[in-house]
Amino acid sequence: MKIAVPAEVDLGEPRVAATPDTVKRLVALGASVAVETGAGLKSGILDADFEAAGATIAPTAADALYGAEVVLKVRRPTEAELSSYKPGALLLAIVDPYGNDEALATLARYNVNAFAMELMPRITRAQVMDVLSSQANLAGYRAVIDAAAEFNRALPQMMTAAGTVPAARVFVMGAGVAGLQAIATARRLGAIVTATDVRPAAKEQVASLGAKFVAVEDEEFKQAETAAGYAKPMSAEYQAKQAALVAEHIKKQDIVITTALIPGRPAPRLITAQMVASMRPGSIIVDLAVERGGNVEGSVPGEVAWVGNVKIVGHLNVPGRIAASSSPLYAKNLFNFFETMVDKATKSLAVKWDDELVKATLLTRDGAVVHPNFAPKNL
Ligand code: NAD
Repeated sequence: MKIAVPAEVDLGEPRVAATPDTVKRLVALGASVAVETGAGLKSGILDADFEAAGATIAPTAADALYGAEVVLKVRRPTEAELSSYKPGALLLAIVDPYGNDEALATLARYNVNAFAMELMPRITRAQVMDVLSSQANLAGYRAVIDAAAEFNRALPQMMTAAGTVPAARVFVMGAGVAGLQAIATARRLGAIVTATDVRPAAKEQVASLGAKFVAVEDEEFKQAETAAGYAKPMSAEYQAKQAALVAEHIKKQDIVITTALIPGRPAPRLITAQMVASMRPGSIIVDLAVERGGNVEGSVPGEVAWVGNVKIVGHLNVPGRIAASSSPLYAKNLFNFFETMVDKATKSLAVKWDDELVKATLLTRDGAVVHPNFAPKNL
């Protein structure tokens, strides 16, 4: 059982899909692990660290991939990468399947059995494999650090002999995994924190972190959560009421962090250009949803830019901005899932194709796109 860990070819991706810790665990499962030279460098992991854990270091991706039955990656491989894959190989990665039918067809054409880690069901058994949570948590933390670094004032209240510095006001929009960590981080830095979400369950979670909840709490709001615990798209009427409340609130904020997402859809637009213009000079907005269409009018993917007197931060791949923390969590998520595909007695691959976690994440198998949400519809 050979496992390959190629370096990420996307220059914007500093994370790596294995660590010395997971390599040790993979070897203990009976695998041989080939890591492409330099794959861990941007996450602070040397080839020597991987070697000491039991991996062999391959001079190129093609060498790492040669004969590998399993490939661990962060991002979906390009067609050039796929040409080195062994037909029938298993791929575990963040595949980003929504709206990428062509790329899924290519994975199928190369006969790769691809598992999209981000489709992992949010059930108790799969919590240890939940890459969305492990990465969003760190993104929420980093968003506050990025905001604090751009902000021209202190976050905590400081009483000094020369006078009092007031605490900054931080407003977090979307109180899911990233938002809750943003709230906790901003609180630790001493800010006065408020937050909003369309899921009623978020209210209590926000309060438990010492922040104040701000939302229109009508009948629609009380029903606004799917059985899976995700946000539902809200009616135009609700959005208008909520926008009016938010517009008033935002005027008084120094930092706004937006994290609102709805799975498989473009991010909801929460902040208009008018709201941006209403903020005080030097205010900061961090749009964590910028890669999915953005919560903020005027946010630009990959850019930190002034819009009038307000700075809008649109960093890409925020978990990658703390790769030495995010890679180990990501690698551990992959390991925990992969472990379920191994027969420990024979130390060989034994994918349980009927397992609900496999069925929920498997996109392509035996040359076809098989996931019900992405398979081409027979008309
Ligand atoms: P997400 O990344 O899909 O969205 C982020 C947040 O934005 C969510 O809280 C969502 O409700 C909110 N949002 C969407 N539209 C909004 C709008 N118009 N205005 C304001 N907020 C809006 O969500 P997530 O962080 O992945 O978490 C979603 C839920 O799943 C949470 O309840 C979380 O606790 C739960 N969860 C459960 C498990 C588990 O049981 N294993 C694991 C992780 C998360």
